[in-house]
Amino acid sequence: DRGAIDYKNIRTKLVLLGDSGVGKSCIVLRFVRGQFDPASKVTVGASFLSQTIALQDSSTVKFEIWDTAGQERYASLAPLYYRGAGAAVIVYDITSPETFEKAQYWVRELQKFGSANIVMALVGNKSDLHASRKVSTQIAQEYADSNGMFFIETSAKTAENINQLFEEIGKRLPRPST
Ligand code: GDP
Ligand code: MG
Repeated sequence: DRGAIDYKNIRTKLVLLGDSGVGKSCIVLRFVRGQFDPASKVTVGASFLSQTIALQDSSTVKFEIWDTAGQERYASLAPLYYRGAGAAVIVYDITSPETFEKAQYWVRELQKFGSANIVMALVGNKSDLHASRKVSTQIAQEYADSNGMFFIETSAKTAENINQLFEEIGKRLPRPST
């Protein structure tokens, strides 16, 4: 039944938020291209990429991914960026408590001004740098739980949990009702 198949396939705008340097662009490039370039420069100009994944129930999710071009420095521009987003990935660096604080700022911002049914994921990136960890997994998990968010630690460098992050978001996205 073609109708049923088409019905299962959804797409959504996904935005990444978080301090400059936490690895947002590297997460996107790992997910979309399977690459990690340690020498990659700061994103110049707006970046837009899309990637479609298949879930276990054989439905597909097309992510239209908006990566900031350094707008994270200008909080006032953020509403233009996350308007209409069905999913937000809020990233911090597990070696930097300041970036975890900033992530909490973005969570509050999205709770106030984001779309009503936005799926939010809290992501502790650079999990490969465990020897330099300064934000505990437990504290981040508790924060995410108390805010109804999904939490995961990733490494764009080693690819740990990158696909799992997007699959979990895909599963949580609301499906249109019949
Ligand atoms: P953005 O400003 O949030 O987009 O951050 P970038 O994606 O440009 O990454 C900032 C820096 O962190 C770059 O030097 C990356 O090589 C590095 N980086 C990103 N992700 C990881 C990671 O998972 N592990 C490690 N060790 N470094 C990372
Ligand atoms: Mg970037």
